[in-house]
Amino acid sequence: MSDRIKFIHGKLEVPLNPVVPFIEGDGTGPDIWRASVRIFNAALEKAFAGTRKIEWMEVLAGEKAYKTTGSWLPDETLSAFREYMVGIKGPLTTPVGEGMRSLNVALRQELDLYACYRPVRYFTGVPSPVKKPEMVNMHIFRENTEDIYAGIEYMNGNPDTEKLISFLIDKMNVRKIRFPKTSSIGIKPVSVEGTERLVRQAIRFAIEKKLPSVTLVHKGNIMKFTEGAFMKWGYALAEREFADQVFTWQQYRRIAGEMGEKIADDLLSNAMKDGKVIIKDVIADAFLQQILLRPADYSVIATLNLNGDYISDALAAIVGGVGIAPGANINFDTGHAVFEATHGTAPKYAGLDKVNPGSLVLSGALMFEYLGWSEVAELIYTALGQTILKKKVTYDFHRLMDDATLLKTSEFADEIIRNM
Ligand code: NAP
Repeated sequence: MSDRIKFIHGKLEVPLNPVVPFIEGDGTGPDIWRASVRIFNAALEKAFAGTRKIEWMEVLAGEKAYKTTGSWLPDETLSAFREYMVGIKGPLTTPVGEGMRSLNVALRQELDLYACYRPVRYFTGVPSPVKKPEMVNMHIFRENTEDIYAGIEYMNGNPDTEKLISFLIDKMNVRKIRFPKTSSIGIKPVSVEGTERLVRQAIRFAIEKKLPSVTLVHKGNIMKFTEGAFMKWGYALAEREFADQVFTWQQYRRIAGEMGEKIADDLLSNAMKDGKVIIKDVIADAFLQQILLRPADYSVIATLNLNGDYISDALAAIVGGVGIAPGANINFDTGHAVFEATHGTAPKYAGLDKVNPGSLVLSGALMFEYLGWSEVAELIYTALGQTILKKKVTYDFHRLMDDATLLKTSEFADEIIRNM
């Protein structure tokens, strides 16, 4: 009997045969979904011999939804994700610069999936543009509902935009809009609650997994009251809610100022010895250098929406590209979660059975971990790792590897299943 996943007293309750809604996605979405779901079912069977299964339930979004229902994101789809708690999706098309909002962003906002979690790890053998990709082992927590991504944008020339610009100039005395007559305007909300709930989860994750640090990545030197405040509120939360479990750079700076650097250094090294999580901060542009120069210094990352987008792709490139970069969008307070391939629809390859399904496959593995079915996730990680080690890969890795065997999407899935 299939059943719903529930969230009771802050914990997921997962029945033996939960219904999980899925969106196959646009472009190459169907290619990678077909491959991924075979891998998921094979791993489930291997781990549980039929005692636990997922009942996959297709829900529509994107082009397929539009063709069938006239809506890009039908209400039934949102209701299904709301009702069944945990879902998974392929990539969806978003036309650039047109009126339509990103379906991905809409989904995240409708379900208030405030944390975008992206682990970045290296699988041995994956071709990488850097010398030591194995030094990268990071967990990105990207704020998912605020920032410039909130979608509060006004196109130049619109009466509303003119009203807003006049308000800023006449009532707020703003003198910094260089070309007021032709400017478009975007608004960047960053709140205390939005910051705290994200940073809280990043710190909890570091404590639970015994990881050494959480780094707040921001551009607070320029955007002081949004990005700078993110850092300030993040530190304040860490010191207030996790006083016994963390040591922050803010504390370090305070102590160094009041009592001297030597004492601050001693306290910092004691905190590290005691296994406390070190909370630090880095400015976003410097961080993009640091991940290339000193990746081993970073573990859990907590950052704002736009920074998180750039950072995820840059890190994904270091460990092998978007073809194997998984992602999850989670509301840790309601339990709702949507796992997704982090790349786009790659429309030029649609229907060719060519692209790497790894991103969706690994997102599925994350989903199994979230459900508490870690044995399924482990099977997937190991089998995917084995397949790459044997140099049996899709075109994206094949073009960068010597003596590798080129596989189609479906053949890559076959090989992963064989390696379980
Ligand atoms: P994209 O679809 O991610 O494709 C960019 C390039 O990334 C591809 O040309 C390909 O590189 C590589 N790539 C993507 N998926 C791959 C896979 N599975 N395996 C191997 N390589 C892969 O980005 P885009 O062209 O900018 O966007 C296309 C559409 O997707 C847009 O409508 C965009 O809005 C949407 N999008 C959706 C999501 C989402 O649903 N989460 C995210 C991003 C973009 P090569 O050309 O080098 O082979």
